[in-house]
Amino acid sequence: AGQASGAGLELKHLEAGYGESMILRDVSLTVKPGQVVCLMGRNGVGKSTLMKTVMGLIKPKRGTIAYGGQNYTKQPPDRRAKAGIGYVPQGRDVFPQLTVEENLLLGLEAADAKLRRAGIPQHVFDKFPVLKEMIHRKGGDLSGGQQQQLSIARALVSEPKLLLLDEPMEGIQPSIVMDIERVIESIKASRTMSVLLIEQSLSFATSIADYYYVLDKGVIVAEGSSADL
Ligand code: ATP
Ligand code: MG
Repeated sequence: AGQASGAGLELKHLEAGYGESMILRDVSLTVKPGQVVCLMGRNGVGKSTLMKTVMGLIKPKRGTIAYGGQNYTKQPPDRRAKAGIGYVPQGRDVFPQLTVEENLLLGLEAADAKLRRAGIPQHVFDKFPVLKEMIHRKGGDLSGGQQQQLSIARALVSEPKLLLLDEPMEGIQPSIVMDIERVIESIKASRTMSVLLIEQSLSFATSIADYYYVLDKGVIVAEGSSADL
């Protein structure tokens, strides 16, 4: 096997929240290059807050965020996307009036003009064939599961080195859950991307993830290799 080319993430003693209320109190977590890591925890414990903090949408009060061996704690959000962090937020993230194609190209920076001219790369359609058939349809006309595939596909267009997925299987039917699992399996096998994924189901953590963390009351209360679950 070749060397993993995904970029690692290291959070150390992260403290973050909204205004005065600190949701993350002291969170340390590592995603190694090429690894698939699952973040679990009950509703409202701060899993999404953690991802938003990694993306720079929330400024940490304390602690550090390192990505690809560099300190990103104080970098503005757009620097993270440019540096190859893809982010799929929780819930539907599709613009209903734009076509599938427009939705897919939306994530590209002006700097990616070349990619924009070349159109949607084939590797995206290889992962989500249904999107190719629907390329000219409006985002809003897709089913919930198809929209979820579209959000993930958008993050993959620019081939991120680290992919953050916030509950991508939430509220979708089992067959599409399997499609998304298959995509994550193929990312894992290629080891060209690291994945941090929020997912409540134990079965995912045990079947696909290499490592898991459980968040509760602002701290990591359990972690380990998925084989130990
Ligand atoms: P779920 O499993 O339901 O997605 P979660 O673990 O992702 O939950 P977060 O969305 O991170 O939880 O929310 C953590 C806490 O922060 C909750 O108590 C929530 O009410 C609060 N919170 C979330 N977003 C905001 C916001 N924009 N302003 C203030 N408080 C917020
Ligand atoms: Mg959440």
